Amino acid sequence: MTAIRIHSKPLNKTIEVNRLIGSHKGNPNGPTLIFTGGIHGNEPAGVFALKSVLEELKQLNPEFNGNLYAISGNLSALEKGVRYNKADLNRMWTKEKLAGLEDDKVISFNDELVQQKEIFDIMQDILSKEKGPYYFFDLHTTSGETAPFITVNDSLINRKFTSLYPVPLILGIEEFLDGPLLSYINELGYVAFGFEGGQHDSPKSIEYCRSFIYLTLSFTGCLSPEDANEAEHLISLKKVMNFRNKFFEIIYREEIEPDDKFIICDGYLNFQKVPKGTIIAINNGKQLETPYRGYIFMPLYQGKGNDGFFIIRKTPVFFLKLSAFLRKISFDRLLVALPGVNWRSETREELVVDLKIARFFTRKFFHLMGYRSKQKDSTHLKLKNREAVSKGEDYKNAPWNK
Ligand SMILES: [Zn+2]
Repeated sequence: MTAIRIHSKPLNKTIEVNRLIGSHKGNPNGPTLIFTGGIHGNEPAGVFALKSVLEELKQLNPEFNGNLYAISGNLSALEKGVRYNKADLNRMWTKEKLAGLEDDKVISFNDELVQQKEIFDIMQDILSKEKGPYYFFDLHTTSGETAPFITVNDSLINRKFTSLYPVPLILGIEEFLDGPLLSYINELGYVAFGFEGGQHDSPKSIEYCRSFIYLTLSFTGCLSPEDANEAEHLISLKKVMNFRNKFFEIIYREEIEPDDKFIICDGYLNFQKVPKGTIIAINNGKQLETPYRGYIFMPLYQGKGNDGFFIIRKTPVFFLKLSAFLRKISFDRLLVALPGVNWRSETREELVVDLKIARFFTRKFFHLMGYRSKQKDSTHLKLKNREAVSKGEDYKNAPWNK
């Protein structure tokens, strides 16, 4: 795609952006960082933040260890200020759909497929010409007001790296979404997660995204903590809310259909505590209550989307430690000795559990082992192991992993 113009309401500023927002090259022995912004077209804050950080790096030219790439997401939707045109660019990254990208005739009918191919190709190109370790970060914003937070697929390297940030960490959102970009990259085994910087058009969102980018440059060792202004950016994110770097898990998702008349009851804030049975929203004239106590998460306030709201709960520290231990000793290798539990393939990435036989297993139990359930027919759970593909070795000399 050719360059397009993107407007920021809070900055009242328009900039021109290409598929590659920009890159910054330093010492080639350092890591390679790949940021994406604007995968959703009504979320320009990440693009503006990336562009401004790249400009500052160019101007100040601090000592830089590694490479930084910033890639734009849904350019045509960004230009129009809408989430997407035909298809959500953050729900298209399944193996099946990626295989379809090879047919140029098919993709030419869908603007988002054309763009997905461009993003895919540029990432492949970076992975082939730069050496690791690689890191991927996807910048988003939300429809409702929120303090910044991180969404992360639950692998041990992701947990360890994300716990450096002073914001809430939401584990396991990928179980509820089909084909987000980051799940695809996580399946390649890299450190990869999403940062939600605040409300779409809040002036603070760009600032929070900038703080996130600078902290990331410091944590990965690209910049010194001084050059990244680490202390200042930590404070700016820390002061937003009381939940510091606590892990949360999604326990409930309210799914809505495209034609539903869904209205969140006014005044709910992200991370607000709610008792079981609280009325959260009205859908098609019917009151929706939360079936669980917890914290309301990502209430849908406007625009397109099929997630009405989520309910999350803090993950106990005990559980985090136990699961890390069980994964380190590959406890799952013993599970297949049990009736009804089998590897799906020889690579031992996926388990199939026959629920008729192994009734006593719950999803929660497999979470302990680092598995995330992918699909479930009436009798079978298909579970994918994040640790089996994790490239933990690549990061063994990283400053955060010592
Ligand atoms: Zn988004």
